[in-house]
Amino acid sequence: DAPALLGPIEIRELAERLGVSPTKKLGQNFVIDPNTVRKIVRLAEVEAGDRVVEIGPGLGSLTLGILEAGADVTAVEIDHRLAAELPATARSMQPEVFADAALPRLRVLRSDALDIGAGDIAGLPAPPEVLVANLPYNVSVPILMHLLELIPQLRGGLVMVQAEVGHRIAAAPGSKEYGSPSAKAAWYGRWRIAGTVSRRIFWPVPGVDSVLVGYERYAEPIGSEAERELTFALVNAAFAQRRKMLRQALQPVLGPLERAVAVLEAGGAAPTARAEQLGIEDFLRIARAARAV
Ligand code: SAM
Repeated sequence: DAPALLGPIEIRELAERLGVSPTKKLGQNFVIDPNTVRKIVRLAEVEAGDRVVEIGPGLGSLTLGILEAGADVTAVEIDHRLAAELPATARSMQPEVFADAALPRLRVLRSDALDIGAGDIAGLPAPPEVLVANLPYNVSVPILMHLLELIPQLRGGLVMVQAEVGHRIAAAPGSKEYGSPSAKAAWYGRWRIAGTVSRRIFWPVPGVDSVLVGYERYAEPIGSEAERELTFALVNAAFAQRRKMLRQALQPVLGPLERAVAVLEAGGAAPTARAEQLGIEDFLRIARAARAV
């Protein structure tokens, strides 16, 4: 039987044939282990017929795993050589993906993930409902935030990120990893560390460990779009001066001391508290108070 997924031999052959030498700048560390791919797809709870968006498909390691599970994939890749080759790779290893020529199960957008917009999503047959990605290290948080905001239809997802970043995303208030990415991520849903990944399953082997971070969207959004914007402005200001008390740190958004104190009290927060003590709902309550006071 021909393999349906890419192992170390296939990855090297493919890279050699395409003349690809992985670049650090684009965070190109390719997964060479089919067991890890299947584990990611299982933990992401991808099922046949699901519409998945994948950021950074690279040579296709994860893409083929998602396709193997019977899901549809929209893959967004910045590197044009990789984006151009992906359909051919999928066709040679899983021809059934293209059985319906009018509606192939794989679509590739050649773009920086940070540049995709509402028009790109509207151009798809239907919006994606699951996010699965082995994110490029240096831009993983901005890409994640951009997608969560851009595609409210996402019911959940699983991303592989640098361990330190993953622990920051999933951190709860009061813990030492808690920061603005944790607070903002919590706007969109419940996060958990779903697993760890050995650095030996990548080529080239990265200098850092990775974790799998999963999330599940809340049944209802916790606030409106206008509330989200103000809440995120408060989160940014609070964590920009995380050692200061909120009555000080939030002045750039709430105005002079007296008003800052009044808004904080109306929002149920102690003016002397610090950013790390507040969950996203606390920030939202302050934002609501600011709009009312
Ligand atoms: N998914 C593949 C795998 O697991 O083997 C590759 C993962 S690799 C860590 C990250 C991928 O993201 C690379 O293919 C890289 O070219 C791509 N990439 C980097 N920056 C990007 C961006 N801003 N937008 C879209 N793709 C990007």
